[in-house]
Amino acid sequence: MDIQQNISLKPFNTLAINAQARYFVDINKKKQVPEAIAFAQQRQLPVLILGGGSNIVLTGNFPGLVIKMSLLGFEFIHAASEPRRVYVNAAAGENWQSLVQACLNKNYYGLENLSLIPGRVGAAPIQNIGAYGVALAHCFESLEGWDCDAGCWKTLNAKQCEFGYRDSVFKHALKDRFVITSVTLALSLDPQVQISYGVLKGELEKQGLNTVINAVTPQQVASTVIKIRRSKLPDPIETPNVGSFFKNPSISAESFSRVKKNYPQIVSYQQDNGCYKLAAGWMLEHAGWRGKKRGAVGMHSAQSLVLVNYGKATSQNVLDLAKHIQQDIQQQFGVLLEIEPAIY
Ligand code: FAD
Ligand code: NAP
Repeated sequence: MDIQQNISLKPFNTLAINAQARYFVDINKKKQVPEAIAFAQQRQLPVLILGGGSNIVLTGNFPGLVIKMSLLGFEFIHAASEPRRVYVNAAAGENWQSLVQACLNKNYYGLENLSLIPGRVGAAPIQNIGAYGVALAHCFESLEGWDCDAGCWKTLNAKQCEFGYRDSVFKHALKDRFVITSVTLALSLDPQVQISYGVLKGELEKQGLNTVINAVTPQQVASTVIKIRRSKLPDPIETPNVGSFFKNPSISAESFSRVKKNYPQIVSYQQDNGCYKLAAGWMLEHAGWRGKKRGAVGMHSAQSLVLVNYGKATSQNVLDLAKHIQQDIQQQFGVLLEIEPAIY
């Protein structure tokens, strides 16, 4: 295990924030995980587990050990008792989109709506990645990882992961305490496309596909999701960003009726628990943040929820803009926008 010192993290975070790791290790063998954690624990160093860096905001040099997760490989597992199902077990360092594509190539279905989400497999459970009406929990079976406090390997099922909307136990009780080394997903050999999400359905219909009798294939869903994403979201390689910077807030029915009275056009979705999810992007756009620049940072012109680094932005520039927006939205709508990416 090669532990390096004072390594720049700029190439490893898609917001391209220039910060250094005091210690840095690139892990490509499972047995290196407990070794790396022991190194950090002996020196009482904080740990940052890094996948593709597409959902983190670095606020300065990291004083501890950055563990870059590069474990690779995946296998398909068929169970004789479940002939129409296949399990895929993928190492945490695999690229998420490569896994989605590999499954589709084999005609194993369930991941198509989650096409083109940046990042690695190991980070997918952290915020229960979701897009176009589907979340990871929909096909999640289990994951394996190293429990840093207990000092042992553990397998967690969906219930133990406590998945919620862009949320899981790894953002709370197990935050930075559990190194995910592999994830197992349950896929179907039978296409069961999920196309009720408005923008997706609309785009499929534009292509002349019959969405009423479900004649759409998972491959068509995937290619359509990719098309929509490419048209709307900035490519982090060209324009550094971490996707949606704020979560869609969920508010009580009572609060919702107050907001709706002032903003009858607000985009909202009633949830099973009676609360209402508000489209944060709509609020930002309504408040005039779409395409607005503040020095080296700004909100993207095609997607107001995406904060972008136009050049040499510092973490302070990013956090100042985020705070300014939170205050503005709170003032106008009486709603607090929560930052989605993890702040380190
Ligand atoms: P990182 O940014 O490296 O890490 C994120 C968090 O997970 C950190 O707290 C990190 O410590 C932790 N972590 C990472 N790997 C491990 C591991 N192996 N074990 C334990 N903890 C770990 N997200 C969505 O949900 N839906 C979208 O549609 C979506 N679209 C996006 C579009 C763009 C253009 C961008 C830039 C981002 C988008 N995201 C989206 C956010 C992001 O891509 C996902 O959250 C992704 O899962 C992050 O993966 P990563 O490997 O880059 O994680
Ligand atoms: P959009 O299609 O413009 O829709 C705006 C918002 O409305 C979304 O946030 C979405 O919530 C919500 N929405 C739309 N139709 C819905 C329905 N039928 N039921 C419930 N909620 C609905 O959104 P977008 O910004 O272009 O993103 C498209 C999809 O990709 C979304 O699912 C979004 O979450 C995902 N995405 C996520 C990130 C990220 O970094 N987290 C970045 C880019 C895109 P949801 O967000 O809950 O779906």
